[in-house]
Amino acid sequence: MRPGSPFPSINDLKEAWIAWKASHPEKIAREYEEEFCSECGGKGYFEVVYEVVPSRFGLIEYTTILPCAKCRNWKKVFGEKPRKLWTREEIEKHPTFYLKDKRHIAGRAKQVEEEQELCTEAYVPL
Ligand SMILES: [Zn+2]
Repeated sequence: MRPGSPFPSINDLKEAWIAWKASHPEKIAREYEEEFCSECGGKGYFEVVYEVVPSRFGLIEYTTILPCAKCRNWKKVFGEKPRKLWTREEIEKHPTFYLKDKRHIAGRAKQVEEEQELCTEAYVPL
């Protein structure tokens, strides 16, 4: 603390930061070695569509990422261990999740388009 100043000096902050780093080594970002993974392709996560909503401007896909259970590459993305790790099979079996994979999207998009067409047909302008 500089005399007469209510604020810490730059050196105080630097010293405090060095001390904090020394006492919290587990919180310092490190380079993780990526391991090979046939499930997620080494990314450590799956891109998942959890909702597809038709709108006036086309289909809106709400996506999220889920950590891969087969490798430890999720460390790069999530940092702390996520509460649940997912396998490709679990996501494929999930009633509302779709892997952001063209095959699944195409199927779901077609289904939503059909629903949308039904909506358009039912709409009678005054
Ligand atoms: Zn993986």
